[in-house]
Amino acid sequence: MMALQGKVAVVTGAAQGLGKGFAEILLQNGAKVALLDINEKAGKELETQFNEAYGADRTHFYPVDVSSDQQFKDAFQKILSKFGQVDIFCNNAGIVNEKQWEKTVSINLCGVVRGTYLALEHMKKENGGQGGVIVNIASLVGLLPLAQTPIYTATKFGVVGFTQALALASEVANYGVRINVLCPSLVRTPLTDNFNSEEQTGQFMGLMNFTRSLMKKFPVVEVEEVCKGLLLLVKDDSLNGACLAVMKDEAGLVSFPKEI
Ligand code: NAD
Repeated sequence: MMALQGKVAVVTGAAQGLGKGFAEILLQNGAKVALLDINEKAGKELETQFNEAYGADRTHFYPVDVSSDQQFKDAFQKILSKFGQVDIFCNNAGIVNEKQWEKTVSINLCGVVRGTYLALEHMKKENGGQGGVIVNIASLVGLLPLAQTPIYTATKFGVVGFTQALALASEVANYGVRINVLCPSLVRTPLTDNFNSEEQTGQFMGLMNFTRSLMKKFPVVEVEEVCKGLLLLVKDDSLNGACLAVMKDEAGLVSFPKEI
């Protein structure tokens, strides 16, 4: 039997990049997966692709903007109606946009808080006493401030702090809920591919040049490598309040950089 057989997972920002990878590794380990994303076209296509690959009704796509309380709540109710339970919740949706800073905070930080509270209420009261596990996606930039992206940095520090503080709270520990945070270094996804477009270069205030210099120091991490980190935080029952950095140097994967 696969490790996550019988479990139901929710992944936000699941239509591409890391979220798509997280959804797939959870499917490969036996879970059913609800895909949430603001991009309806890509989300529906992925639902079809995953159902073909992993069996009918293993996944369902829900169009959701995580910056909307109402959309998030409505989707969560629909997920419970369809799948009956939620055991794993991965708050992954995020953007980098220093100019639209309120939007960035509303997605990257408030969206994670919204998803976490929805999951927590369900896991502690309604999940047949089984609890559950929440994994929030921050960034290495949630541990080491990046001068080029103060807003993104603030949101990711917020995600790390929120997750670790909540892990200590009795409402989490006493109900068998675990909550962990994952901090990837630079990952090859559509997000970072876009850093190379001219439009994004202007928007990110020279982030492209910075990214290039960062890439020389820390080779880009692949989605599959970050997925292994997610799986560890989901599966290992001893981990609550854990903060796992996924990054590599020329010698391979290491847990934390000495300097950035
Ligand atoms: P991506 O841009 O490739 O994918 C993000 C997904 O989130 C997209 O499918 C997008 O449609 C969705 N999304 C955006 N706004 C949304 C909203 N309001 N509601 C719902 N969905 C929304 O990005 P990625 O590289 O896969 O990043 C995923 C997460 O990992 C983000 O939180 C990001 O900050 C974090 N992260 C990325 C890297 C990296 O180098 N790529 C490194 C560290 C952390």
